[in-house]
Amino acid sequence: MSYSVRKELSRKKRASKDSRPHVKEESNPSNSLASKLSQVVEVEEGDEFFLGPGLGCISPDSLLRLFSFQGYLTTGAFIGLQMLILGRRLLGVEENEKIHVVCETQNCLPDPFQVLAGATLGNKRLMLRDTGKILVTITRHTPPGELAPGVRIILDPAKTKRFDKLHAWYMDTEKLPHREVIQILREAGNTVYSYKHVKVPVTGKREKRVAICGTCGEPFIQTDGGDRYCSDCAKGK
Ligand SMILES: [Zn+2]
Repeated sequence: MSYSVRKELSRKKRASKDSRPHVKEESNPSNSLASKLSQVVEVEEGDEFFLGPGLGCISPDSLLRLFSFQGYLTTGAFIGLQMLILGRRLLGVEENEKIHVVCETQNCLPDPFQVLAGATLGNKRLMLRDTGKILVTITRHTPPGELAPGVRIILDPAKTKRFDKLHAWYMDTEKLPHREVIQILREAGNTVYSYKHVKVPVTGKREKRVAICGTCGEPFIQTDGGDRYCSDCAKGK
């Protein structure tokens, strides 16, 4: 069986099994997520959505999941998505492998990591370190005591300069619709990002102890094992 025939068969098999909403198969396009998404990006006919040069494609379904999770597709979320794909490529991490992410802004950027990479605030594989930078550090899941190979990726202003509108959006000198900036990001692909490889020490889980705050009486998780007051009340001491 030729590769193209196999691919076509597997595509049909997938399509018949997949009951989730599909970009091409919406029964009520005027109202659907897919049609709302199409107001932000053009989703091509076919199996794949192109993210830009050097980044390859994702399934339209993944894009729809991000749109649904966020309630929109913002420029920041799209940048996070490009960073996720770039980071995986740089680290040689497969889609089903666990990653850990430190995200340096809360604005939109964390969402693709949560919904498409399973790195959530709740499972602690996503941490926010809010410096206000469009910057993430992605590391491989690595046992405690070892150094996790990682990559620190930033949207590089020296590189966005080559795209006037994108740069104006980044520097906040012009208000632009998400649709327009996302289209530029797709044309730019990996050329607007800079990265460096890093090694991040992995610490083991800390022992969890619950204490009752000596001031407010509310139970809290001690962070250093010896706090007598919750962090709010400790500030007043
Ligand atoms: Zn307290």
